[in-house]
Amino acid sequence: MSLLHIDAAHKRYDHHTALHGVSLQLQEGEILCLLGPSGSGKTTLLRLVAGLERLDGGSIRLGQTLVDAAGGPFLPPEQRQLGMVFQDYALWPHLSALDNVALPLHRLGRVAAHKQALAMLDEVGLAALADRHPHALSGGQQQRVALARALAVKPRLLLCDEPLSNLDAGLREELRERIGSVVRAHGISALYITHDHREALALGDRVGVMHQGRLQQLSTPRELLRQP
Ligand code: ADP
Ligand code: ADP
Repeated sequence: MSLLHIDAAHKRYDHHTALHGVSLQLQEGEILCLLGPSGSGKTTLLRLVAGLERLDGGSIRLGQTLVDAAGGPFLPPEQRQLGMVFQDYALWPHLSALDNVALPLHRLGRVAAHKQALAMLDEVGLAALADRHPHALSGGQQQRVALARALAVKPRLLLCDEPLSNLDAGLREELRERIGSVVRAHGISALYITHDHREALALGDRVGVMHQGRLQQLSTPRELLRQP
């Protein structure tokens, strides 16, 4: 069953059209990487799925739920059961790693939230540094905290916008593998933006190529590699 169904998504900013009718479906448990040059509409598509922007045309479904349709219903971001990881880690500087991950779990109560947060930090290999504040963590470690925080709420879909682009090459590969294994271990789906071909081919079950607000191509890494 498709978890995410984007149909003819259209988005305008003032006089500029950022998306010209993009359609795609993401299957349950699938990682779809979006490649494309700067300005091709990748972030706009992700922000629409997240509910941070509204469609001007088309529709977006998450599972059976219509979450956005131009002139129709709109489900706010906090009700979409999504996890998000961005290029800048966006951690709270005054909170420890543990509290950063526990924050979205506050409804569970402090003890249960901390227990679950620590389990998530353990999954990303950071349990030993749970008490550190972000400034005392490396970029890669901060991004692992951000990943743990995104997954702590048990999302059905993880949205990533160039999560590795601020890291150096060695770390990028290590963290890419970590993201892949954690996402697959949880059986969730991911929509993952990158401008790095190698990253997309290594991580994605399918790779979409965006160009000037259109999805130019959507294929498996194997098909992409076979092209001349
Ligand atoms: P990316 O790194 O994915 O290319 P950008 O740096 O272009 O993203 O954009 C960062 C943020 O600024 C995004 O939230 C995007 O929606 C917004 N943004 C991009 N271009 C413009 C623009 N021309 N005017 C206003 N906001 C913009
Ligand atoms: P990408 O993520 O592929 O770099 P974006 O989705 O950030 O592309 O941007 C697609 C186009 O929409 C770009 O031309 C960008 O300048 C424009 N854009 C994005 N966000 C805004 C915004 N908030 N206001 C105006 N223009 C925007």
